[in-house]
Amino acid sequence: MFTAQQYVKAATLEEAYTLNQKRNNVVIGGGCWMKMNHRRYQTLIDLSGLGLDIIEETPEEFVLGAMVTLRQMETDEALKNTFGNGFYEMTRHIVGVQFRNCATLGGSLYSRFGFSDILTFLLALDCEVELAHAGRLPLAEYAQMPYDRDILAKVHILKNGRRAAYESFRQTATDIPVLTCAASVLNDTLRVVVGARPMRAICMEFPFPETEEAMEEICRKVQETVSFGSNLRGSGEYRRRLAGVLCRRAICSLKEDAVC
Ligand SMILES: Cc1cc2nc3c(=O)[nH]c(=O)nc-3n(C[C@H](O)[C@H](O)[C@H](O)COP(=O)(O)OP(=O)(O)OC[C@H]3O[C@@H](n4cnc5c(N)ncnc54)[C@H](O)[C@@H]3O)c2cc1C
Repeated sequence: MFTAQQYVKAATLEEAYTLNQKRNNVVIGGGCWMKMNHRRYQTLIDLSGLGLDIIEETPEEFVLGAMVTLRQMETDEALKNTFGNGFYEMTRHIVGVQFRNCATLGGSLYSRFGFSDILTFLLALDCEVELAHAGRLPLAEYAQMPYDRDILAKVHILKNGRRAAYESFRQTATDIPVLTCAASVLNDTLRVVVGARPMRAICMEFPFPETEEAMEEICRKVQETVSFGSNLRGSGEYRRRLAGVLCRRAICSLKEDAVC
């Protein structure tokens, strides 16, 4: 467990950002990941007083604060009505309800874990992150950036009619995933995202497949193009095979008339 000399509940995002520029200070989200390290911090910066724990909906977009928990995303009716089961599917396997009541969207995206269910699914949607200092940028760009000392304040998700589906595979329930896969479609363009490779999730786009053969061809391309690594949860070759299966399942869920 980490320790800290001082605790500050930030009154403004600017205050949090300024404090976070010191090397030994740190922002805390849900603290679920941080509690696993043994570091000694100077100041713990708490964002919980900044009203960043709400999910807002406008006609154009959803705006999720960084302190929104995984459980909020899992159970939010408006997200479900707009994006189907994806938010539920990306969160429901993560540890347990008590854990998901603490772990936050901000902590999850900032960490950009190579095994992240959250990053995989959100990359399939049209998302921008809003950072305290750098402003808004596409999630796909943020996902590739190195860690820095900016603060993730909000996530904007466009309501543009994109349909999305999410699949993951775990060796045992509640473990971290061996492989994750999301697929989404907008204007006849299919986006496939593969994560837990076990590297950061990667996106690819294809024309939406109208036939079984075209779908199989896309799954083959995903298997051939994406690089997969090995760790104690599975070999690269095992992941490559899984990618074909999960990719097919995710695309099938997007085909309203499909019998897959
Ligand atoms: C045992 C365990 C199992 C897990 N299994 C899975 C899984 O199966 N799938 C999955 O996708 N994830 C999994 N996770 C990750 C989890 O879902 C969260 O992503 C993780 O706990 C981080 O969220 P947090 O709110 O706890 O962040 P914290 O632990 O509070 O912070 C994590 C990091 O993010 C930084 N940070 C936090 N908030 C912000 C912010 N707003 N701006 C900038 N930096 C910030 C912190 O400084 C810290 O460096 C697991 C985690 C644990 C501990």
